Amino acid sequence: MNIHEYQAKELLRQYKVATPDGRVAVDAENARQITKEFGGQSVVKAQIHAGGRGKGGGVKFAKNPDEAAELFKKMLGMTLVTHQTGAEGRKVHTVFISNPVDIEKELYLAFLVDRGSSRITLMASTEGGVEIEEVAEKTPEKIVKVVIDPAIGLSGFQARQAAFALGLSGDAFKKAVTFLQNLYRLFVEKDCAMVEINPLVITKQGDVVALDAKIGFDDNALFRHPDVLAYRDLNEEAPEEVEASKFNLNFIKLDGNIGCMVNGAGLAMGTMDIIKYHGGSPANFLDVGGGATEEAVKNAFRIILGDKEVKAVLVNIFGGIMRCDIVANGIVKAAKEIGITVPVVVRLEGTNVEEGKKILAESGYNLIVGNDLKDAAEKVVASVK
Ligand code: GDP
Ligand code: MN
Repeated sequence: MNIHEYQAKELLRQYKVATPDGRVAVDAENARQITKEFGGQSVVKAQIHAGGRGKGGGVKFAKNPDEAAELFKKMLGMTLVTHQTGAEGRKVHTVFISNPVDIEKELYLAFLVDRGSSRITLMASTEGGVEIEEVAEKTPEKIVKVVIDPAIGLSGFQARQAAFALGLSGDAFKKAVTFLQNLYRLFVEKDCAMVEINPLVITKQGDVVALDAKIGFDDNALFRHPDVLAYRDLNEEAPEEVEASKFNLNFIKLDGNIGCMVNGAGLAMGTMDIIKYHGGSPANFLDVGGGATEEAVKNAFRIILGDKEVKAVLVNIFGGIMRCDIVANGIVKAAKEIGITVPVVVRLEGTNVEEGKKILAESGYNLIVGNDLKDAAEKVVASVK
């Protein structure tokens, strides 16, 4: 789960990680008021779960309180397009007013879980403010990686090593070391997957502050962080994914046109592969789970068919714990209640497969039987061509 910049900064403050003063404005008058409190100037920032807002027009400097009010009005409700949102962009529902800082240097800092070393890794670079992907491509030597031993945590030595690599000295050096140690503590205690500070700013006054903050959490640990879960913003998630999560379905929207309903994550990935292999393109990843009910299958179908891009559906079930007759009943129920308007290819195998096939055959709906996985994939791809 990801959160907004203003929420990430609330967490930073809890952990004594320095960040500029800032508040969400509820309306234009409020934006004016906050700007007055900041001494007459502010940075007006659109809150969406995507980076690159600055270049897209989502970060603007207000030279006076009236301008802040104007910028607020323009930004709220606008559709912001950045290189991370895709062409359709994201609607801005929240606007954050930040107390401006005088930038001396923009640096880059991130903690993330590195799968290669299976450890939390600190990444630091003197090239802040620009996309780190660009730095990694053009000047990879400017990114310093520090791998952290979980038993020891971020040691003082490592924090100093990173601060040194950032080219800091004196007071800023000391402040950066404390900054890193507090940020690491946040990362571990809140079960983060990624914390990115870009830019980390050294101000003209010599302070070290997080000007921007992006935090992603490990979804599997959210149950023990109700405070973090409260930050969830459904506006930022694909509506199909929000709907699917209500029924405990593991659903991820993709951009193809063949809907997939599968039990088991591995089989679901294999199904997407075989669709691709035969020249098709999956519209989603969906694992209905091992113990899904008729009701879950029906809802899964409803969510898949709710996508206007879907031109055909491939149902691929291997009945282990899941029984094929339950799946078949779910499909027939969906056909009755929602209506099925696109070709549906069904491949069933395993527990109660004969009952399942019988239910489908006698349903009166035009459901195409796949004799095996290859046959099913070929049939579903052919049906959209
Ligand atoms: P992003 O574009 O979504 O990553 O948004 P950021 O919060 O990182 O802001 C983009 C850029 O705006 C930063 O890299 C800074 O150069 C600039 N910026 C943001 N806040 C301030 C500020 O308080 N003072 C100054 N001088 N520049 C700022
Ligand atoms: Mn940024």
